[in-house]
Amino acid sequence: MLLVDPPPSQGDLHFRAFGIPVRVHPWFWIVAVMLGLGGGGPADPLQTLVWVAVMFVSILVHEMGHAFLQRRFGGHPRITLYGLGGLAACDDCDRSPRSQVLISLAGPVAGFLFAAIVVLVIVASGRQIGVIAPGEINWDSLGVPAAVVQPMILFQVYFESFRSNLAYTVVADLLQINILWGLINLLPIYPLDGGRVARELFTLSQPRRGIVQSLWLSIVTAGAFAAFGLLRGSLLTAIMFGYLAYANYQTLQAYEQHWR
Ligand SMILES: [Zn+2]
Repeated sequence: MLLVDPPPSQGDLHFRAFGIPVRVHPWFWIVAVMLGLGGGGPADPLQTLVWVAVMFVSILVHEMGHAFLQRRFGGHPRITLYGLGGLAACDDCDRSPRSQVLISLAGPVAGFLFAAIVVLVIVASGRQIGVIAPGEINWDSLGVPAAVVQPMILFQVYFESFRSNLAYTVVADLLQINILWGLINLLPIYPLDGGRVARELFTLSQPRRGIVQSLWLSIVTAGAFAAFGLLRGSLLTAIMFGYLAYANYQTLQAYEQHWR
């Protein structure tokens, strides 16, 4: 969900994954630890470490989804992990609307495939897994010791618990990050993946009006989720979507000034 690469820093970690150069900016680790501790209560070092590792692998998988398609369409992508997310970009990417839509969708799809593999592992181990509405858990009717993954906006996932606390934490974090991150990114809010798709579709027939329409869609959607976050008492949700609504409103004003 980044627009530009942050400048290089001394703490950058560099490596290659499947031939694609990856740079991890120090802010990625800082934000990951903050999110891991965000639940409040006493911090468990092992749980925080698992959370950071799962977030690193999951966001890398998401960006690899974008980068694989960028490379397939003839580009030479590079990945940056920074702050709350990442960026897969290339100077020679195919800019056609069709390629851009497919490249944008490939990130969330990669995360959902990763989550599907985790679900298959749970099923293969003979455990139950399912989806329920938030707050509607009837523990007796489940009939098994179940663990619930944090609400995924409109639903939550439960699965039959593992005896090992570590295995449980890894599985719960993997499901939460890969499903939730994919869903959030599909929202039609620029510069999230869904917002990029919406902009490509809106500008197909009317480039100038399409930009304005896609910005308004971003503002309304982000504003609605910010209000939802406030009502639900989730400050992080309110701040994140409030910021996105504000940033899109600023872009809209600058755009209308420019074309006046
Ligand atoms: Zn993405």
